[in-house]
Amino acid sequence: MSDMNRRSAFLDEIGLGPIWVRREGGIELLDAAPEAIETMPQQVTDVAAGLQAEAMSAIVESTIVGEPVNESSAWSDDSAPASVPVPHIAVPEMVSPLAMDWPQLQQAVASCTACGLCHGRKNTVFGVGDNKAKWLFIGEGPGRNEDMQGEPFVGPAGKLLDNILLAMGLKRGENAYIANIVKCRPTDGTGRDRPPSPEEVAACMPYLQRQIELIQPTVLVALGKTAALSLLGLDPATPVSKLRGSVHRYADRPLIVTYHPAYLLRQLGDKGKVWADLCLAMSTYAQVGE
Ligand code: SF4
Repeated sequence: MSDMNRRSAFLDEIGLGPIWVRREGGIELLDAAPEAIETMPQQVTDVAAGLQAEAMSAIVESTIVGEPVNESSAWSDDSAPASVPVPHIAVPEMVSPLAMDWPQLQQAVASCTACGLCHGRKNTVFGVGDNKAKWLFIGEGPGRNEDMQGEPFVGPAGKLLDNILLAMGLKRGENAYIANIVKCRPTDGTGRDRPPSPEEVAACMPYLQRQIELIQPTVLVALGKTAALSLLGLDPATPVSKLRGSVHRYADRPLIVTYHPAYLLRQLGDKGKVWADLCLAMSTYAQVGE
């Protein structure tokens, strides 16, 4: 059975069919001038949303069935903690993250004290996936379970992201890499998750920049406001809704903005918008990646 048939059978089995397939109309996009990539016609995303809203609904519902989500946080299940062992690699004091290889970068993050988030962490959360992935998904920062397990996007939001990846023909660890803007869990005075401060983002960003250089992804997907605004350097008041539907650029690569899976679990009405964003991402990948 071919990969496409296997994926189609899988999606049918869990009620997500029909599989998304780029239609002939999309060929026009392949032939479009590069500058035309920058802004996708709204009709494209609207049509995509209309076609795939049901599929997205099934993805979300299959994620949340039998697994209630804590309303205060999407990182709320109680999976058994498991530290991610990082082999010790000697990193010279003066080496910039922007000059490090993978082992050095992992070790540098594991021992980083560049911002105050180091004090409350149980584990740093470096990132997970295929080091040569064409797709890079970037979230905000670790939550409680990510901090305990040392891996990004675990718990209900992570399960939803995994289902979204499957619907896109991707898989955690296969042609997809998942990372965050900051590598340590930001919490407020009561221990609840909070967005990282601009200073914390600035301190941690070189690690993500180096990850991007090492991975060389074709398309970046910013999951949520913190990721989008941090990568694009925009005013904190900019809503995600203003950034959707366009192809932005980061490090000379296309960047698509969509909602964070944790937000989507709380706002099921926006599932069609997320699927439209992912259709835009796949169209962009088809243009740039071929
Ligand atoms: S959040 Fe980033 S910069 Fe801050 S301590 Fe953790 S790894 Fe270092």
